[in-house]
Amino acid sequence: MTVPASPFWSPAIRGLHAYVPGEQPQGEGWIKLNTNESPYPPSPRALAAIRAAADERLRLYPDPQSLALRQTVASRFGLEAAQVFVGNGSDEVLALAFMALLRHQRPVLFPDITYSFYPVYANLYGAAFEQVPLDPQFAVRVADYERPNGGILLPNPNAPTGVALPLADIRALLRAHPTSVVVIDEAYVDFGAESAAALVPEFPNLLVVQTLSKSRALAGLRVGFALGQAALIEALTVVKDSFNSYPLDRLAQAGAQAALADEAHFEHTRQQTIASREWLAAALAARGFACLPSCANFLFVAHPDHPAAGLMQALRERRILVRHFRQPRIDNHLRITIGTQAECERLVAAIDEVLA
Ligand code: PMP
Repeated sequence: MTVPASPFWSPAIRGLHAYVPGEQPQGEGWIKLNTNESPYPPSPRALAAIRAAADERLRLYPDPQSLALRQTVASRFGLEAAQVFVGNGSDEVLALAFMALLRHQRPVLFPDITYSFYPVYANLYGAAFEQVPLDPQFAVRVADYERPNGGILLPNPNAPTGVALPLADIRALLRAHPTSVVVIDEAYVDFGAESAAALVPEFPNLLVVQTLSKSRALAGLRVGFALGQAALIEALTVVKDSFNSYPLDRLAQAGAQAALADEAHFEHTRQQTIASREWLAAALAARGFACLPSCANFLFVAHPDHPAAGLMQALRERRILVRHFRQPRIDNHLRITIGTQAECERLVAAIDEVLA
């Protein structure tokens, strides 16, 4: 049920609509391919570190600077701790970036088909924004961003399409807009796109945002981070400290640090996801689906003869959840998260039943 706005609400929020994430079903037996979580468990080392941190020290506030975690992230990318910001999921990092860096007279630019949180944040924080259409192949064309702007925000790979931008394009964008902050949201970068993290020392206007929710299988821990030169990181810190100086709890700091140190687990689950993605893309193409080339842990697909809304419902009746967006140009597409290989095979069997 939606509760209507009331006169008690601040006028500025009366027109807002909350972001509606994909369904989190109750009960067992669902194959959940709708919110791009990892189908694999997190690193056992992360779980052990979380358990070890759950002791009497919980009466104490956590390190407000998350310094040990920031140092771990920094060393992974050849940066300094002052070039790393950590937050409660990359959603929080992005929210802070909107507040601290993307609210200018000129509009922040982001694609028209992209992570649906961006317009929600822009509206919430009163940031002017303009959405730039994707090209006919659903790709971002950086030349289309050659217009006056107060910042640029691009997910790479994009969501929900999975289409990635080459690093050369991001470099060109950074060069073409030296006075704008360019935020690259790399939530899915580990599944096959090129990270812009290596460009941080070269470009003072670059902020790279990543998360432990996808390739590290820790969506439930809520840890994301940003990489950038110290001036951008400081802007995020100033805003964060002004409303909650403890964004990461003790368990999250400990678990995230251990997860980032477990390279073998990361590499194994990442490769499994990529292999299943390629298998599923081929299986769906063989059944007549058009599949965008994906560098993410999901596929964005459409069938010429079977409307997406009906397919989603038919799969739901078989206890398989996939994501459908009621949005112009993509309302005949489904976004399907890559599950385990067994889950992908059950999905294809269900699709065979539905298409029969
Ligand atoms: N960016 C993109 C493009 C996403 O799809 C998501 C997850 N839905 C996020 C950021 C946020 O992820 P989290 O807050 O779990 O780090």
